[in-house]
Amino acid sequence: MATYDIAILGGGPGGYVAALHAGVKGAKVALVERDRVGGICVTVGCIPSKTLLDSSHAYWLTTHGEDYGIHVEGARFDLAKAVARKDRIVAQLVAGTEMLLKGRKVDLIKAEGTLVSPTQIRAGSETVEAKAVIVATGSKVGVPPIKGLADAKPLDNVGALALTEAPKRLVVIGAGAIGLELGTFFAEIGSEVTILEMLPQPIAYAEADVVRVLVRTLEQRGIKVRTSAKVTEVQRKGSAVTVTAEIDGKQETFEGDQVLLGAGRVANLSGVEQAGLATNRLGITVDERMRTNVPGVWAIGDCIGDPRSPKLAHVAFTQAEVAVDTILGEDAVMDYDVVPNVVYTHPEVAQVGLTEAQAKEKYGADVKVARFNFRASARALALGESEGQTKIVTAGKDQRIVGVHIVGPQASELIAEATLAMRLEATVEDVAATIHAHPTLAETFREASLSALGRPVHSAR
Ligand SMILES: Cc1cc2nc3c(=O)[nH]c(=O)nc-3n(C[C@H](O)[C@H](O)[C@H](O)COP(=O)(O)OP(=O)(O)OC[C@H]3O[C@@H](n4cnc5c(N)ncnc54)[C@H](O)[C@@H]3O)c2cc1C
Repeated sequence: MATYDIAILGGGPGGYVAALHAGVKGAKVALVERDRVGGICVTVGCIPSKTLLDSSHAYWLTTHGEDYGIHVEGARFDLAKAVARKDRIVAQLVAGTEMLLKGRKVDLIKAEGTLVSPTQIRAGSETVEAKAVIVATGSKVGVPPIKGLADAKPLDNVGALALTEAPKRLVVIGAGAIGLELGTFFAEIGSEVTILEMLPQPIAYAEADVVRVLVRTLEQRGIKVRTSAKVTEVQRKGSAVTVTAEIDGKQETFEGDQVLLGAGRVANLSGVEQAGLATNRLGITVDERMRTNVPGVWAIGDCIGDPRSPKLAHVAFTQAEVAVDTILGEDAVMDYDVVPNVVYTHPEVAQVGLTEAQAKEKYGADVKVARFNFRASARALALGESEGQTKIVTAGKDQRIVGVHIVGPQASELIAEATLAMRLEATVEDVAATIHAHPTLAETFREASLSALGRPVHSAR
């Protein structure tokens, strides 16, 4: 029986980063993965969806380029080719991760694993023994209990990202990140897309004014977004699907060729059911050092049940480092106060920290808000993408930044500066005193800070 310092069950962003981090610190590590390393994120999640969104956005710009001086006749989107490009990028990343694991002398065991005791994982015909075990089994699609849904064979992320022919009409259930991103992709390549959301707004956790800009822009691009729409039934008849939803007390029907599940994901606990791990309705219960109730067993990533922990790859990355550091006797805790969250629609939505309402609840009257509109950004105008805003929420007399909310082009990149600023407990004065290159979209953060200080430059207030 092979013995290790740390054995990891699941090789997604949580598991493979735990292995790489432990390997670089000199620990002897085994990583058990039944499929491809990289997990959902690399193989059927973050990376494939962004790769396809980059393809569809390039097509959209090509077919809407008159204003830029681009006239293309007979432009055509070849989905099979875009999917092949996506598959190549995924294969490259999987191979790169395997190479890094090898370089850190991690034993990658490709098998279905079962945690049979706090120190043992059975992996196929092998048993792996370790001083500590990290469970990183990730998540799976949660199928909501809607009449007829399962029989209608809805697309999930795996099916949607592998289609080689776009549906003419697509009905998406759920306007969270996954539903909005995949809806955007199919709309940009020509599908008629309707997104149905049960809650009063898409991206429930996001700032309402930011979401309003997003919805307006998506609708201008032909995507129909219906909120407070509770899907009650899905019926497939041959190649057509009818989705019934209750909206304002009335039943409405939506016709499609395909229905896509954009609703949430649930913890995957396969292989750990017998281990005696305490769970709650979200997943495995852990403390802030990622320890489970069973001594010697840690859990990280999408499989954990901590309501503060969003199901995101970079959250899993950080939890992996915290778990490994704790196992190796270092002082590490997970801090959820400064976690960026991005939706890769066009325009993108990105946020970090508190919303205006949350800040008011926490800090009371000391909270102030300032914005900079992308229509006043030279760079956004040059890009031809001037729908958007950067909104800053501050607290205290010194106006420390406690939340930043961006909707607009490249919001996913812009949020990094805001995240660092919050991490360093920066004030709007610190941001205003920082020289930003001109013309850039990043300037919108400085301009919003100047507005917060009452000395706007490129805006009226
Ligand atoms: C369409 C889509 C788009 C997304 N986009 C983003 C994004 O842009 N940014 C972002 O931050 N997040 C995104 N996410 C979420 C992100 O993919 C997850 O948060 C992340 O993958 C979680 O990592 P993980 O390691 O916890 O789990 P997973 O990625 O689910 O990996 C778990 C791994 O464990 C393996 N496994 C499970 N059980 C066993 C067993 N018993 N034996 C052996 N192996 C096992 C699985 O095969 C899998 O490889 C997206 C998700 C989806 C579905």
